Amino acid sequence: MNNLTDAKRAKAIVERLSAEYPDASCTLDFESPWALMVGAILAAQCTDERVNKITPELFDRFPDIQSAAEAELSDIEPIIRSCGLFRNKARAIKGSASMIIERFDGRIPETREALLELPGIGRKIANLMLGDAFGQQEIVVDTHCKRLAKLMGFTTSDDPLAVERDLLSVVPENERTRWGHLMVSHGREVCRARCRRCFSCGIRDLCQYGTAVDASDKKEDDCV
Ligand code: SF4
Repeated sequence: MNNLTDAKRAKAIVERLSAEYPDASCTLDFESPWALMVGAILAAQCTDERVNKITPELFDRFPDIQSAAEAELSDIEPIIRSCGLFRNKARAIKGSASMIIERFDGRIPETREALLELPGIGRKIANLMLGDAFGQQEIVVDTHCKRLAKLMGFTTSDDPLAVERDLLSVVPENERTRWGHLMVSHGREVCRARCRRCFSCGIRDLCQYGTAVDASDKKEDDCV
């Protein structure tokens, strides 16, 4: 691998991938912090595409935090059934809405500590909210981010919290939110879980795994 420090490598990766994926952003459709939170709850073990098909009907029926808090679970569940884990997700949506009204005066809190008090909200969703709804800089460690961080040589851990900590020490502070989106784009387009297209990858010279592979590792489908 080249002689750059990890921080310089991470900065160069942001620059190159930003040029490659200029529109990289959250792939959940949302027009308000509440809509993002609901979409993120629904996205657990479900694709963002499916969530985006479900949410218009859900928000037609329950357009805001108040209506979600007052909804019957039996009215939410059939609408979100196709995204799986629908009973838990309905409870998380209604429970979060109720707590936001009762504990936070109807406003979604803007700190991680408070967000984590809401039912169904873990660190990944909290970071997503802070970054994409509230304009803070946070790294969302999802499956793509975790996998690519390891391949790039920024972490040796599989634990999301440790991966986040390792990335925080190298990713430019003002690019933390974008980093997550770039990893999703690159993880879907080029560096797929079962097909890493290292020989077509624009950051191969900056990647620990990529610089270690050679042509003999390439399979017929160009994946390694
Ligand atoms: S060089 Fe290979 S492993 Fe590294 S980011 Fe690119 S596709 Fe992924």
